[in-house]
Amino acid sequence: MMNSLPVCFCSTLWRKNWESTKATDTKAQLLKYNQDDCRTLKHIVEFIRNLNLPQSGPSVSQIPLKTAETEDLTKDRPHWDLFGRREYASGDFKKVAQCAYFDYQRDKVYVRTHPYFKVVNKKRRKASTGVNKVESIESYRCPQCQSKKIVKGKQMSHDVIDLKFFKNGVKRWITRVLSWRYCCSKCGNSFRSEERPPHPTKYGHGLMSWFVYSNVARGMTMHRVEKSVTDIFGLALPPAEPYRSKKYLMNLYQPLYSEILQSILTSPILHIDETTVRLRKQRGYVWVLTSMDKAYYFYKPTREAFFLHELLGDFRGVVISDFFTAYDSLDCEQQKCLVHLIREIDDDLFRHPLDVELKGLAQDFGGLLRIIIETVDRRGLKSRYLHKHKRSAERFLRSLAKAELVSPVAKKYQKRIQKSGAKLFTFLDHDGVPWNNNNAEHAIKRFAKYRRDADGRFTEQSLQEYLVLATVFETCELNNINVLKFMLSKETTLEGLLKMAGRRPERHRALSPSHEPCLGFASPSTNTISDEPLGTQQAARPAVLPEER
Ligand SMILES: [Zn+2]
Repeated sequence: MMNSLPVCFCSTLWRKNWESTKATDTKAQLLKYNQDDCRTLKHIVEFIRNLNLPQSGPSVSQIPLKTAETEDLTKDRPHWDLFGRREYASGDFKKVAQCAYFDYQRDKVYVRTHPYFKVVNKKRRKASTGVNKVESIESYRCPQCQSKKIVKGKQMSHDVIDLKFFKNGVKRWITRVLSWRYCCSKCGNSFRSEERPPHPTKYGHGLMSWFVYSNVARGMTMHRVEKSVTDIFGLALPPAEPYRSKKYLMNLYQPLYSEILQSILTSPILHIDETTVRLRKQRGYVWVLTSMDKAYYFYKPTREAFFLHELLGDFRGVVISDFFTAYDSLDCEQQKCLVHLIREIDDDLFRHPLDVELKGLAQDFGGLLRIIIETVDRRGLKSRYLHKHKRSAERFLRSLAKAELVSPVAKKYQKRIQKSGAKLFTFLDHDGVPWNNNNAEHAIKRFAKYRRDADGRFTEQSLQEYLVLATVFETCELNNINVLKFMLSKETTLEGLLKMAGRRPERHRALSPSHEPCLGFASPSTNTISDEPLGTQQAARPAVLPEER
């Protein structure tokens, strides 16, 4: 069994063994292990010294080494980076390698030896131009003097390329818009029948929604979306065009984005979480606030949480978060994510299988939570049923505070549980307060998936576009609304969104908590509960943890 364990772990057992038996062969084993360790360390130190002194050895100095500050190194290098342009130390190699690019060779090299490439290369892209509908916009009166005596002048036209969605399908749809210049015979005013900018929008709402749906909601890269649109609909677009659709829809949803935030801030609970993001020139954090049925994403360059005091100034509900210390200073009731805590304790149980004190702590805590969660499963998140567990929760906190522990790991958790104290059990006092931060983590997961392809490529502008759209889409999905249908409906208000979900407009009424908290925490003066008790459905869902953070 010993052979399957790591050597460092075995050495701890050898040491324990030697302390009790003083056996000479165990001592020899230990000494050899220490000597091996020192020798390896010496090798590493010598190697690093050589890197710093290029003159010392000719073999090392020949290689130009890439160095980086430790803060700049990231644990998770995005996978798209593997296909990026690489840097060459030699200019000659760079030039040679550039001539090996796939498209370059087909266009410039193979075509000389394989004549059929002349035909093949030409066929690669061909735009389709069939017009489905002609729309004429005419004028019959002068807009200035209302006279009917106007003279039709030059005709103008532009095409709008769009996708038209039917009940069970979708079709490419090109509309040719015709309009004319006019001159009024009475007042001399010259005008156009169509009010339009010098370069009118070339792409319709349906096509732009399709781009954004495929990219932001379904996670295809824009490049792939563009290719698929060419393959399926025969539309060849300039490469930058699909990206503009994100800006168009962001502008459309900007008011809804603010409305969602306002609504979350008046809800009885608020989940919060944050994760890292790499922009082209800096790093920062994407934060998310969620209620039971809405999510709001935003960007901040740092992880400092001072801004939260201002943002949550008027918030009167319960904040649910992980154990990140910045949340501790918030001036409202709090529930810490119990899933985070039990996950960490469980990891330590694997790391320290011989720690009896940790095991005892885990058993007491696990036993307590298990009984509480059984009630949650049976009754939902209702304080009427949960309140009976408060005594055992208090008993657990009191006995843990009194326990005299020796093991550093168990002590760490004793301190942490004491520090959070009542914040671990706030949910027992309220209706509809979850005991985990699942809602925020689910929302963060959406961003984490998108980040796989986009990390390190964001600009502040493109990230902001994504966050506005993700806010709307996540909120749609939390209300079981088809994101594509929502975009095609051109709905831009929260009221309309909730109506699409079959819900009534939001009303909030003030309620006091059903029971006075007795864990030494001040009770809130009012507690607003929304009309629809979504809380119970959410609670039955098992806590899903994000795959990547
Ligand atoms: Zn006129």
